[in-house]
Amino acid sequence: MRGGFTKLEFLGATRQVTGSSYFLEVGRVKILVDCGLFQERDYSYRNWQAFPVPPDQIDHVLLTHVHLDHCGLIPKLVKEGFKGDILLTPASKALFPIVIQDSARMQEEGAAFKKKRHETEGRKGPYPETPLYTVQDAEKCFALLREVSYEEYMPLNDQVKMCFHDAGHVLGSAMVELTIQDDQGFRNIIFSGDIGQWDKPLLANPATFDRADYVVMESTYGDRNHESPQAIDDKLSKVVNDTISAGGNILIPTFVIERAQDLLYHFSRLANAKEIPYVITFLDSPMAVEITKIFEQFREYFGKQTQGLFKDGQSPFDFPGLKLAESVEASKAINLIKGSTIIMAGSGMITGGRIKHHLAREITRPESTLVFVGYQAAGTLGRQILDGLSLVRILGQSFPVRMKIEKIDGFSAHAGMNDLQRWLDSFKSPPKHVFLTHGEDEAISSLENYINSKSGWQVSAPTYMEEFTL
Ligand SMILES: [Zn+2]
Repeated sequence: MRGGFTKLEFLGATRQVTGSSYFLEVGRVKILVDCGLFQERDYSYRNWQAFPVPPDQIDHVLLTHVHLDHCGLIPKLVKEGFKGDILLTPASKALFPIVIQDSARMQEEGAAFKKKRHETEGRKGPYPETPLYTVQDAEKCFALLREVSYEEYMPLNDQVKMCFHDAGHVLGSAMVELTIQDDQGFRNIIFSGDIGQWDKPLLANPATFDRADYVVMESTYGDRNHESPQAIDDKLSKVVNDTISAGGNILIPTFVIERAQDLLYHFSRLANAKEIPYVITFLDSPMAVEITKIFEQFREYFGKQTQGLFKDGQSPFDFPGLKLAESVEASKAINLIKGSTIIMAGSGMITGGRIKHHLAREITRPESTLVFVGYQAAGTLGRQILDGLSLVRILGQSFPVRMKIEKIDGFSAHAGMNDLQRWLDSFKSPPKHVFLTHGEDEAISSLENYINSKSGWQVSAPTYMEEFTL
């Protein structure tokens, strides 16, 4: 096997959905595909452990996309000795500094807040009260970023090439293909990254493949389908209209990349069609505002419908009543508004950010509504609320949950069950092996059953730090 794929080790997203990271030795090149933050409470201790592979021995990090569960540990990797390059698509390169600096700020603020709270309460928490990495650490990654366009085969040495294919998941998202050409012939391995949905208004469809020797595939929604775009509009307008009639506010924990822009797109459609009344709508996130500007710079990645809007001089991300709250003062001023408002703020799973402050104010008000528009990982505050916990802790205080809880599934940047099956069906011959990652048990079993029903296919779902010789 010398010169071929020698080792594949699963360093995260194993039977859970965060901390994506796969280590691969291929033709003497050492590669890390993604280096994600563990966001589920049960696994976050891993963020503090030493990397299973010494960072100074890794040659390249290949980044599928800029969600923190795929890139959030890169500053730690660099801090602990990684000196190679970080290959990513041009749009990911534009987004990465914003996302990672924000993550560092959240780490710093979180550590400071914990320290203060523990001092007040006279106790110690399970993790150090120091940030995992600082803004300064995060900035040290920027010099290592190197952009590679979609469909460009980039040599990593004389036998190994890498290529990004559009994953249709978020702006700049990619599937990673690694190929080897040596005296044993041609072989390839495909990392699906996070797979998007087909026929979404903003992004292109996910890439598909005729063949692969090995596939590492996400399975987040392996057991469920999403609602259609029309169902999203119907549900969103009902929530907005009902909550306004009740005199409450609408809070939407928002992932700042893609979800925020998707929401703007849907709200602008509903506002223009007069399906919702004029309502002051805050995008309460300087980062989401900045990211929306980057979206406008990469119009060539959008689907036809959205490109058409831009050509007509309209922005799909703007509508009457929309206010962009960038400063902390602007965010605090939202509290003073009388009458109903819609507030979109990060973070998407309520693990940090301005949404916590809004939630602490609204959660006991039955007239207000909390609308989930994205995946809530196990152990996050978002998941606790969604699972119906009646008492939750926000910013160190306990609150009874009295506001209405709604969930709109169709927004997901992830492929639903049918989409995942469609992606698998595109392979004209069975890969030697499909490794399922990035899913909880039910989702994995469902997809595993589907793959097992296809003749000649082999599938497994690796466990943490499981190693394979390919
Ligand atoms: Zn993602």
